[in-house]
Amino acid sequence: MIPLVDTHIHLDAPELQGTGINLLAEARRRRIDTFVVPGVQFSGWQRLVDLAEQATGVYAAPGLHPAYAGQWSVQAAQQLRVLVNHPGVVAIGEIGLDGAVGPPMSEQEQLLREQLQIAISAGLPVLLHARRATGPLLDILRELEIGNKVGGIWHGFSGSLQVAQQLVQLGFKIGVGPILLRGNARKLPQAVSALPASALVLETDLPDMAETPGTLLDVACKVAELRGISLATVAQITTENAGRLFKF
Ligand SMILES: [Zn+2]
Repeated sequence: MIPLVDTHIHLDAPELQGTGINLLAEARRRRIDTFVVPGVQFSGWQRLVDLAEQATGVYAAPGLHPAYAGQWSVQAAQQLRVLVNHPGVVAIGEIGLDGAVGPPMSEQEQLLREQLQIAISAGLPVLLHARRATGPLLDILRELEIGNKVGGIWHGFSGSLQVAQQLVQLGFKIGVGPILLRGNARKLPQAVSALPASALVLETDLPDMAETPGTLLDVACKVAELRGISLATVAQITTENAGRLFKF
């Protein structure tokens, strides 16, 4: 089996107290060897780039999470425009809209639009975060033609096959994570079974959704079971999809 790619793992999360990098050895033992670490807060961007420099197979996706839209400033925008030129930076993330936390939607939308423009200028794909905001986020992606211009991943997807198909049509990949392993998951298994293979990528969203990086392998096994294909084929497909998007 070729090694897997974790397209969304917060190795720098404060909860891990600086030990995120120690998880890589365990991940590699379980045949996971490439990791994309998304940004959350402005203060964490330098750490992301440091991680990408320190560890083989680790790539950074700096960006401001919508919950922290209040941290956006001229200085932050400037720093992001500089960071996109770093060789370890493969995407802008995680960016989007969050209807449950953070500043008012108008402020989140303004931030999202500015970060999407930076992604377009840099020619980098985006890692999208959406909570209780699927419709508004889809509208902005459609309006700015992000899928055609740079593409990206709708991270932590949990929606219906119908929404997934719209995203695929718009040029996005579906980030399949540990939600798939929940016994009560209904919509996501349907989407994972029916979507074109070229749309699927894997993620743990550790530490929020997984405690160990090996959970990615459990997600991959579940995808194999749902689609009636081998784990090796899932690895082949999802690793190729991630490689083509991020240009590792
Ligand atoms: Zn995340």
